[in-house]
Amino acid sequence: MTTNRPPHRDTDLARMMGYADGETGALVPPIHNATTFERAPGEISTPGGFSYSRSNSPAWTQVEDLLTRLEGGAASMVLASGMSAATIPFLALEPGAHVVVQDVMYWGIRAWLNDFAVHWGIDVEFAEAGSLASLQAVVRPGKTRLVWIETPANPMWNVIDIEAAAKIAHDAGALLVVDSTVATPILTRPLEFGADFVMHSATKYLNGHSDVLAGALVAARDDDMWQRMRRVRKDLGMVLGPQESWLLLRGMRTLHLRVERASENAMALADALSSHPNVAEVLYPGLPTHPGHAVSVRQMTGGFGGMMSVRVRGGKEGALGVMRRLKLFASATSLGGTESLVEHRRSTEGIESPVPDDLIRLSVGVEHADDLIADWRAALDG
Ligand code: PLP
Repeated sequence: MTTNRPPHRDTDLARMMGYADGETGALVPPIHNATTFERAPGEISTPGGFSYSRSNSPAWTQVEDLLTRLEGGAASMVLASGMSAATIPFLALEPGAHVVVQDVMYWGIRAWLNDFAVHWGIDVEFAEAGSLASLQAVVRPGKTRLVWIETPANPMWNVIDIEAAAKIAHDAGALLVVDSTVATPILTRPLEFGADFVMHSATKYLNGHSDVLAGALVAARDDDMWQRMRRVRKDLGMVLGPQESWLLLRGMRTLHLRVERASENAMALADALSSHPNVAEVLYPGLPTHPGHAVSVRQMTGGFGGMMSVRVRGGKEGALGVMRRLKLFASATSLGGTESLVEHRRSTEGIESPVPDDLIRLSVGVEHADDLIADWRAALDG
């Protein structure tokens, strides 16, 4: 039986949207290393639409098309890192622009805004993470140009209602950008809730194997702002190399499977640890006790993600002791790989970090849940 309906997302991921090389029939694209492309003789036009790989590269075509499809957007860009993707929307604004971000967010972006963006004339104001009332109070109608949210937000996993945040931003005449690194397009599609741009550290779940540094931006519309953002990528050369583009595309083919398993594992671990006497609190949007649970149920489909944090009894020493005793969770930064990781975020982020000392951040991988739970129980029991 044949059907005209478009394939499901999972089918498009697994088949790379049915890619086949026009000349050879290869089902996997070649790695395009070329930096320069031949023009029509004596002319400026480039028959394939490519001229120089800082502007555009065939190495990006499949991965960008797949990202656009996954997020339901109009266009995508892959970039050299998540930080490149995060800084581009700010760099594309006019000097003096007022922007609103939340006080819990990936610390590297917060640090860049505080240490650099403000000196370049971007007026940065912070709203309380997860609070729509705070966002509403901080946004300045007619003045705010951009609102930035991350949900769930690193590393406390505060959740904010994307649809309501989009309304607040748009009513004020601002654009909404969502750092959706942790939710991934498998669990949340922010453009459907009214966001203007979605940003990913593709280093994390999109690639999923801890072997590529990359970023991504997806736009709801291919408009002037998007073209300015493309100019920033080109002019500053924030481009993703061909090998990395290829690896990212390869990793993305199993994105749905990895995110689903990581979410199942994280849910099982969160349930198991919540009642442990040496645990003060489990921060995970999948738990009904989490303040953002109801919103998460509305805007996350198929799970609550692989990221959680555990506050253990005994302060910093208690947390470091548990980390030393864990055998299956490598102590390392980053997230979204197949392997489970733990990190003491306060130590990583430094003394200005709002993260409590007793907090361990977990990136739950795709191992067997029973092994992960047993490892944590043994480490907590000392
Ligand atoms: N946003 C989030 C939520 C992140 O976790 C990270 C990295 O940890 C970034 C942005 C920055 O991405 P990258 O390290 O790929 O530059």
